[in-house]
Amino acid sequence: MTLNILFAAASERWDDYEQPLRRALSDAGLGDAILSTQLPAAEVDYIVYAPNSDLRDFTPYTRTKAVLNLWAGVEDIVTNPTLTQPLARMVDDGLTRGMVEWVTGHTLRHHLNTDLHVLHQDGIWRNDDVPPLACDRPVTILGLGALGSACAQALCTLGFPVTGWSRSQKSIEGITCLSGDAGLRTALSTAQIVILLLPRTPQTESILNAETLSLMAPGAMILNPGRGTLIDDAALLAALDTGHVAHATLDTFRTEPLPADHPYWAHPRVTVTPHIASTTRPASAARVIVENIRRGEAGEPFLHLVDRALGY
Ligand code: NDP
Repeated sequence: MTLNILFAAASERWDDYEQPLRRALSDAGLGDAILSTQLPAAEVDYIVYAPNSDLRDFTPYTRTKAVLNLWAGVEDIVTNPTLTQPLARMVDDGLTRGMVEWVTGHTLRHHLNTDLHVLHQDGIWRNDDVPPLACDRPVTILGLGALGSACAQALCTLGFPVTGWSRSQKSIEGITCLSGDAGLRTALSTAQIVILLLPRTPQTESILNAETLSLMAPGAMILNPGRGTLIDDAALLAALDTGHVAHATLDTFRTEPLPADHPYWAHPRVTVTPHIASTTRPASAARVIVENIRRGEAGEPFLHLVDRALGY
């Protein structure tokens, strides 16, 4: 029987992914597979999916062995009641390396106080504020998954003392790994830079709120490339107003695009980046998708399966 793969994502993504997917299928010995944006639902074996697709009802896809998400975040599909097929999320080397670069770049910006000199070329010789070494700038990462652990290791290599916090207890060389409520309190109170790389789930909703923000060291900074829902915006704005939080660099928001009149845009202690921290890279992501298809066809377990109960 022919192997039928439906590509269900916004049309511009097809332009990006068609050739990389065909190449990866051919390299995996699956070059005979039909890959298309239009297939009869009852004949589809795998769905390559992005939440910007129109596909919402998975009920007619009775033959489908797996839905393979192109994005790392699955909040837009994980609660879909019609989805009974296994769901795999994206863990892509290109996505991970992009996130490491964004996190490292923005961490170094704040660590080195780069803005002071970049934004003040005004003839004043400001040489009284030499930054500390990285080893004196503790960093905490909330979320030690594919992205958080890679960022933790990169920052550790640069010399930052890195603490990571996750749901289950981890052990990563060079990183202080914490979990649980007490671990969160320690992770927040000991850091000068806090980086959010948690998924959007009911459990992570407003994990940074008035109470947890108050645990942070005065003058600490926040990077949020995770999800906008991780932060109680009103509480963060209040903490920024008092200077308790010295700066927040935010890549993700509750409403995207961030409305033009949102207070974050004008706040002197906020940097907005438009959800560009990282993205799935077609060449490497296609290989991940096809590896899962190969596994499905060989009867091997799928990689990166989403736990529906946990929501990520
Ligand atoms: P993973 O699923 O690999 O990792 C998630 C991490 O969060 C895990 O360490 C997990 O713990 C931890 N976690 C989840 N829930 C809780 C909780 N309730 N309490 C404590 N820890 C928790 O995801 P990724 O690393 O691949 O991606 C993380 C997020 O980054 C994505 O969900 C997405 O929202 C965001 N993202 C943003 C992008 C951007 O451009 N801004 C691009 C790509 C992703 P455990 O290890 O114990 O399971």
